[in-house]
Amino acid sequence: MDPKLLSAIQRQNEQAISDLKRFVAQPSISAQGVGMTEAAQLTADLLASAGFEVQILPTEGPYPVVIGTQRGATDRTLLFYDHYDVQPPDPVDLWETPPFQPTIREGKLFGRGVSDNKANIISRLAAVRALRDAYGTLPISVKFIIEGEEEVGSPHLPSFVECHRDLLAADACIWESGAVDWDGAPQVVLGLKGILYVTLRVSSMARDAHSSTGTHLPNAAWRLIWAIASMKGPDERIQIDGFYDAVRQPTAAEIAAADRMPYDEVRTRQSYRIERFLLGLEGAELRRRILFEPVLNVCGLSAGYQGPGSKTVIPAEATAKLDFRLVPDQRPDDILKKLRAHLDQHGFGDIQIEAENHGENPARTPLDHPFARLVADAALEVYGRTAAIVPTMAGSGPMFSFTDTLGLPVASAGAGYPDSRAHAPNENIRLADFENAVKHVAVIIQKMASDTW
Ligand SMILES: [Zn+2]
Repeated sequence: MDPKLLSAIQRQNEQAISDLKRFVAQPSISAQGVGMTEAAQLTADLLASAGFEVQILPTEGPYPVVIGTQRGATDRTLLFYDHYDVQPPDPVDLWETPPFQPTIREGKLFGRGVSDNKANIISRLAAVRALRDAYGTLPISVKFIIEGEEEVGSPHLPSFVECHRDLLAADACIWESGAVDWDGAPQVVLGLKGILYVTLRVSSMARDAHSSTGTHLPNAAWRLIWAIASMKGPDERIQIDGFYDAVRQPTAAEIAAADRMPYDEVRTRQSYRIERFLLGLEGAELRRRILFEPVLNVCGLSAGYQGPGSKTVIPAEATAKLDFRLVPDQRPDDILKKLRAHLDQHGFGDIQIEAENHGENPARTPLDHPFARLVADAALEVYGRTAAIVPTMAGSGPMFSFTDTLGLPVASAGAGYPDSRAHAPNENIRLADFENAVKHVAVIIQKMASDTW
């Protein structure tokens, strides 16, 4: 790394940490509508003070998107996707210091949203500042899209991106999250799974009944149990007709990358106190399944009496919440249709399905894309460690809008580590990781000026 750039980064580190504290001190809980207007404005102010032209643009939802653009020496453009909203801080009494009172101790900065994903936003701004400070100009153009609904499933981001393709035009995109593993090796993640979340609702009769009538009155709980049981057996294979039709087989390179993925099987089993993983999975087979296999998960079940003691009753209502984690090229709307057809074919036409918004499509950047290599090379230069290139995460997010709608390669870079506790009490980053994240992004921007594809 150029010493000139390094000292520029060190010069503005203090400013970056103080910006980050100010950003974390501003609550921005999208699920509860707390502090969102102020947070969008603060995001815009932080971008403006780093030299960006800023627009706060409405979406079809309640919270606006903040857009920043800064022209550099060339038209080549890197787009950052981030979000200014955070998860609720609950349970608040498990925090060692208040969630919206950013606090530094033992080389870590604690606060809700610091890791997910406010430190990443500030680290990108710090990189831009340092590059301009070191060279007088940015080597390429940089854009930001920072939304306020990521933590509630980004329901309005896909339509926003569709409507603003020109504004968001770029050559590549850096994803909001990014982390080093337990050994300090950086991870470059290239994809996400999709998601479909549904509530199944059964109403078997007008009201609950005395359970002695179970000989002849329909029990909503049984109907729901049979319906769910028809969808998956103990072999974990999903029985919905056509469910696997669109599943794209991973490439040989993706399989090899999955096999190399660090995953501490023993520690994970110990932490959940389980003897074995599902199906006795281990080693390469386990890793491939984590990354490339779709899932049908029962998130919640409710019916009938659940209070103390006994109440002999036939419930007339029952509900279940299910999520499907989808892999390329499955689509939530297609899976929803297949789920409906499955229930109808199996005699469960009376079971209603309510889908939570539109779900999210899975997305994946090809492992051999030059941008993936560039981000990994930059990581090697900064961390002095070979980056693990991970074909996809097991989680979900609105990446499809960037890979498919905008046609960009997407890779992760960020300041997280395995104990960052995103979404949990005592969320934190290590300040050393933060500085590396600034350097990583600065080198990515530098490399983009000379790399072409
Ligand atoms: Zn999150």
